[in-house]
Amino acid sequence: MTYDTADLIRAKRDGRPLTDAQIRWLIDAYLGREVAEEQMSALLMAIYFHGLDRAELRAWTAAMVDSGDRLDLSGAGRPTVDKHSTGGVGDKVSLILAPLVASCGAAVPQLSGRGLGHTGGTLDKLESIPGWRAALSPAEMLAVLRETGCVICAAGPGLAPADRRLYALRDVTGTVESIPLIASSIMSKKIAEGTAALVLDVKVGSGAFMRDVADAGLLARTMVTLGEEHGVRTSALLTGMDTPLGRSVGNALEVEEAVATLRGDGPPDLVEVTLALAAEMLRLAGIDADPAAALADGRALAAYRAMIAAQGGDPDAPLPRAALRRPVPAAAAGYLRRLDARAVGVAAWRLGAGRARKEDPVSATAGVRCLAKPGERVARGQPVLELLADDETRFERALEVLADAIEIGPEPPPAAGSLVIERLICDNG
Ligand code: URA
Repeated sequence: MTYDTADLIRAKRDGRPLTDAQIRWLIDAYLGREVAEEQMSALLMAIYFHGLDRAELRAWTAAMVDSGDRLDLSGAGRPTVDKHSTGGVGDKVSLILAPLVASCGAAVPQLSGRGLGHTGGTLDKLESIPGWRAALSPAEMLAVLRETGCVICAAGPGLAPADRRLYALRDVTGTVESIPLIASSIMSKKIAEGTAALVLDVKVGSGAFMRDVADAGLLARTMVTLGEEHGVRTSALLTGMDTPLGRSVGNALEVEEAVATLRGDGPPDLVEVTLALAAEMLRLAGIDADPAAALADGRALAAYRAMIAAQGGDPDAPLPRAALRRPVPAAAAGYLRRLDARAVGVAAWRLGAGRARKEDPVSATAGVRCLAKPGERVARGQPVLELLADDETRFERALEVLADAIEIGPEPPPAAGSLVIERLICDNG
């Protein structure tokens, strides 16, 4: 069965739902280049305005999954469970969480991405470790997973290829910020990855994709429903992202902080979010274990070292260090009331830690150290941040974006509650 693409665009433009067969044809014909880029652009814009209903979204996601390979992880030898974060500033949780959950008896097959914009990518962080390799074949991925219980690697070109093309098109047509399109994009890759269970860390706040709890909750519920509809046990935590997670933002800096956390010396906010996600992953995997104990007694660190070595990295090699440092002093004495996540993320990006286009290189060493966090007292002139770069010209633009990022006052900020705002499980009727 073939359709007239313009008819389908008109239907969606006028708010009429598309059928399963129409959606499957559209995705297949787009991949086969029978549907032109300009036609898919128009359709995406119609979806941006009218959304996709539940049946349409299920069919759209299924067609994206079926556009490529679906990995078979049945040889992993343990229950599989993965985590996906919608992206935050200083979010190095995956580096700790994958080996932590593996050390409790699960298999964590994490196909990750690179950073784009102000949030860092897990692969960019790990690539600051000498020798570590992100590109693994499916057979290598499974071998590392069997050997160490966890693997973090790049998604190959065969995984949801329709999403790869659609995401690039959305990026240049102003259609990224659509909840059904985001949900289907993320979930198609996770479903194709073959994990049996998935925990979503949906970040909320100034440094996140979703700035308010209502939007984040809608995105989380949409993804949880999609996962369950496709046979993946899925739940989500909404976690706060108004200030950077931990004290380091930047690739090698975040690896260093992740290793410190695995050694039992992690910042409390990072430990809190990691343990909450670990408990949720173990619950979905049906494993009764205490992740706090595995973090404290060195089992998680041993699993991390094994995973890094299995992917060619040297866990004992010194990490690269930036050539230049620049402190950002407190303008007044008092309590640090706000340290804005987005501004710190953009500063790290401008210092060289992130990329503007996906083919740009990133610096392993550039970034920002948060020497004070909200709630702490600072003296006038005391450094609140330390900026790191390889090139003197990088500092000026990083300092510009930080101009309004730091607020100091005579009173402490309201006591910070838990970073875990809400837990969502499937209410799939
Ligand atoms: N991440 C994805 O993989 N897809 C989106 O659409 C947005 C974020």
